[in-house]
Amino acid sequence: MKPFAYARASDPADATAQAAADATFIAGGTNLLDLMKLEVMAPDRLIDISRLDLAKMQETDDGGMRIGALVTNSDCAADVRVRQRYPLLSRAILAGASGQLRNKATTGGNLCQRTRCYYFYDTAMPCNKREPGSGCQALQGFNRIHAILGASDSCIATYPGDMAVAMTALAAEVEIESADGETRLVPVQEFHVLPGDSPEKDNILTAGDLITAVILPPPVAGKQIYRKVRDRASYAFALCSVAAVVEMDRGTIASAALAFGGLAHKPWRDEDVEALLVGKKPSAELFGKAADQLLAGAKGHGSNDFKIPLTRRVLMSVLQEATDTGAAA
Ligand code: SF4
Repeated sequence: MKPFAYARASDPADATAQAAADATFIAGGTNLLDLMKLEVMAPDRLIDISRLDLAKMQETDDGGMRIGALVTNSDCAADVRVRQRYPLLSRAILAGASGQLRNKATTGGNLCQRTRCYYFYDTAMPCNKREPGSGCQALQGFNRIHAILGASDSCIATYPGDMAVAMTALAAEVEIESADGETRLVPVQEFHVLPGDSPEKDNILTAGDLITAVILPPPVAGKQIYRKVRDRASYAFALCSVAAVVEMDRGTIASAALAFGGLAHKPWRDEDVEALLVGKKPSAELFGKAADQLLAGAKGHGSNDFKIPLTRRVLMSVLQEATDTGAAA
């Protein structure tokens, strides 16, 4: 690990002011410390934000919830209000990592976790995300966990998290404080970016930006499901995950919000798929059309070709469960 300077921030304004170009925030450190040990990331300065007053879960005036950026994944998943009103979020968080990691990992840090592309972590290999312009070993290499949607010729990495996939389906927003003292809200759906020609960039944060909270809107009606398919039953990243909030009204799909993990450089949402479902009666034919729409632009790279039929099956199964009202045929 390369030497670095360390400073502790006293409040969010102090944190953003201290965060110069080469400074990196650290809270739980569950991803960052691994990256620093491997010298995939080598920040000159770490700003410790772990003692800031950002670990509260609060109800908002409109009936939603504000999850402080330092709320741990364990505390968020266990909160009775989250379990009752946003069970999708609780299930997604509990589907990720291990108990020990969830006890340390924070809400803000979870959003900022980096890809698990094998070549990104191997400094002997070319990787445009780690070293822009060096190439992408995954394109010709083993790419079982890589993207089938929204990738580019520069990078086919996936965003690895579960929590943000659920937050995307729930239409949550990220609260960000910048060095000039401004606070802005960004939909989780717009927080992560596609790789394009700049795969070194994972999200829209710029120097000094500090995530202070995630805002959940009031819960919407409907069944909430989080389905994750992975190589092991626990402690594995998604090959494909689906977060769904689907409301039925007299046998017809009244609303549908769907987000997908393990498929792209960001949690993937396709509003055309949702529009195709709304107002229709559930059927295998309809679900097949939804899968066709979702996967129309999908592209495998060899080892990950299986994700295309896998995603089709997972989506159809989730829609079957989400629209099953238990009524006799
Ligand atoms: Fe690097 Fe992205 Fe290629 Fe992986 S897929 S080697 S992260 S450029």
